[in-house]
Amino acid sequence: VTETLDERAERLLRVGLDIAVRIREDMPADVRRGLDGLDPSELRDLVTLLAAVVPVDVPESALLAWYTHPRYQASPCGTLPAARRHQRLKEPLDPLCALTLQERDRLRKRNERADPPRRRRPVTA
Ligand SMILES: [Zn+2]
Repeated sequence: VTETLDERAERLLRVGLDIAVRIREDMPADVRRGLDGLDPSELRDLVTLLAAVVPVDVPESALLAWYTHPRYQASPCGTLPAARRHQRLKEPLDPLCALTLQERDRLRKRNERADPPRRRRPVTA
């Protein structure tokens, strides 16, 4: 498998952004598992890529506030974020979260019926 440098950067950045989302909700051990498949050079590049997207003009205290002063806890069961968290962690769905997903699918289908996705016209160069 040959991968261009750009493709490699995109792949690593996707891993990094996924971790950035999960680090606030999941257990660190679960988050770390996402790094298990990376070799040392990929890990170094990932750190560099993530550093590049840190908003350095934001005060350090604000950047770390989610950790030092957590305002919210993981979303409670019965919410979409909680249901997604179960799916991500491959946990069994409890009744509340299962209902939430059913309701989301129901609404999605209803919205699609009301406003079916339009066929895209083929793009001609
Ligand atoms: Zn739940």
